[in-house]
Amino acid sequence: MFLSKILRNTRCFLQTSRTLSTSSPETGAQQNETGTSPNGFCFALSETQKEIQDLARKFSREEILPAAAEYDKSGEYPWPLFKKAWSLGLVTNIIPTEYGGLGHNVFDDSLIVEEMSYACSGINIAIYSPKFGQIPVILAGNDAQKKKYLGRIVEEPLHASFCVTEPGGGSDVNGVKTKAVKKGDEWIMNGQKMWITSGGIANWYCVLARTHPDPKAPASKAFTAFIVEREWPGVTPGRKEINMGQRASDTRGITFEDVRIPKENVVGEEGAGFKIAMNFFDVSRPVVAAFATGVAQRCLDEASKYTLQRKTFGVPIAQHQAVAFMLADMAVGVETSRLAWMKSAWEVDNGKRNTYMASIAKCLAADVANKCATDAVQIFGGNGFNTEYPVEKLMRDAKILQIYEGTSQIQRVIISRYLNERAKSLN
Ligand SMILES: Cc1cc2nc3c(=O)[nH]c(=O)nc-3n(C[C@H](O)[C@H](O)[C@H](O)COP(=O)(O)OP(=O)(O)OC[C@H]3O[C@@H](n4cnc5c(N)ncnc54)[C@H](O)[C@@H]3O)c2cc1C
Repeated sequence: MFLSKILRNTRCFLQTSRTLSTSSPETGAQQNETGTSPNGFCFALSETQKEIQDLARKFSREEILPAAAEYDKSGEYPWPLFKKAWSLGLVTNIIPTEYGGLGHNVFDDSLIVEEMSYACSGINIAIYSPKFGQIPVILAGNDAQKKKYLGRIVEEPLHASFCVTEPGGGSDVNGVKTKAVKKGDEWIMNGQKMWITSGGIANWYCVLARTHPDPKAPASKAFTAFIVEREWPGVTPGRKEINMGQRASDTRGITFEDVRIPKENVVGEEGAGFKIAMNFFDVSRPVVAAFATGVAQRCLDEASKYTLQRKTFGVPIAQHQAVAFMLADMAVGVETSRLAWMKSAWEVDNGKRNTYMASIAKCLAADVANKCATDAVQIFGGNGFNTEYPVEKLMRDAKILQIYEGTSQIQRVIISRYLNERAKSLN
């Protein structure tokens, strides 16, 4: 009932309620839209944020969760769920209001993501993926590009992808080999991308390519981002990859062969591609940390329920301290992961440099999700190893969280670099 009512009213509901300033019932403190109180610190969500969270929670529990196992088995793309999410405004919510979206910030978007991921992180990534294309255009695109390409997704439930990784590697963005060469008013692109989420179903891609003629040019000048349409000659997505987890998501390689790109489709400035990619990660890593927190919370909940039902030695296994402490450790991880994504999202939404905190959040939450999933399987015993129970899927789905949007090792490289710099100032 409730869901069908919000299905009808969501767009208007979310847009109008966002502008309200609300009083937090938990603290009684007056709270603004960024979640801060006049005292400078507030852990309470605003009324608008609670409404956004509630909408995502209902959609996730009532629509995604019951369908998750089937999509995992078939590996089909979840079109009906994607279309429903789009009609709820959950695909276009980060697009600025002047271009037809809801203008959500990273924090509000991450609230949605955590809820949806709880039900199925695979279906969630499949639904989320157009935002991978949207983010660089929102961050660096011009007015005409935003109108044209974000506008398409506002008009129709379409996909867009962000293409950085190549068959030769993803961690070293500076190693990107796809090239674009200027010829008159056009650029000609040649190269190959790999592991592109929604690569086979996207309407357009934002593609990072090397454009500086000097192969020794610094990363800050060497690359340019381009919007490339799927239907342009020379663009060929490969086969759908069969992955360990998040199987509802469509991941593919894409070949670009003499693709002609009009100069109007350069995103930001020529040579600014690396900076756009790094700014993209500052936005996407808090979101992926929220993805991971949703998975970890689900693991904790499934395991908690099971420990009350399952008896050994005449008592529910919850009463064995070894099991109870596994749940306690899971709770420590879930709570701290959530705080970490919230802080890193809050920082970027408030114009603060969040690279360090985004890496901490992504690294922590991805590791926690994997530990929680492994422990949930352990708590389920033999049942945990079987597809009839939900936790083996959670374990398979969790793994990728330590790989995409920068591996856990790369997050630690970024954190260490920051610590090195900081150490110098301590001397
Ligand atoms: C399902 C899926 C979806 C994806 N979606 C997208 C997408 O939409 N767009 C996109 O552009 N990419 C996407 N990717 C690619 C993803 O971002 C990369 O896989 C990831 O960045 C790692 O790159 P790689 O696989 O080439 O590993 P490599 O870079 O080859 O790394 C291999 C191993 O070496 C480690 N390593 C590498 N360098 C260092 C170092 N300096 N210090 C310590 N350890 C290091 C890594 O941590 C890793 O363990 C996706 C990948 C998958 C699997």
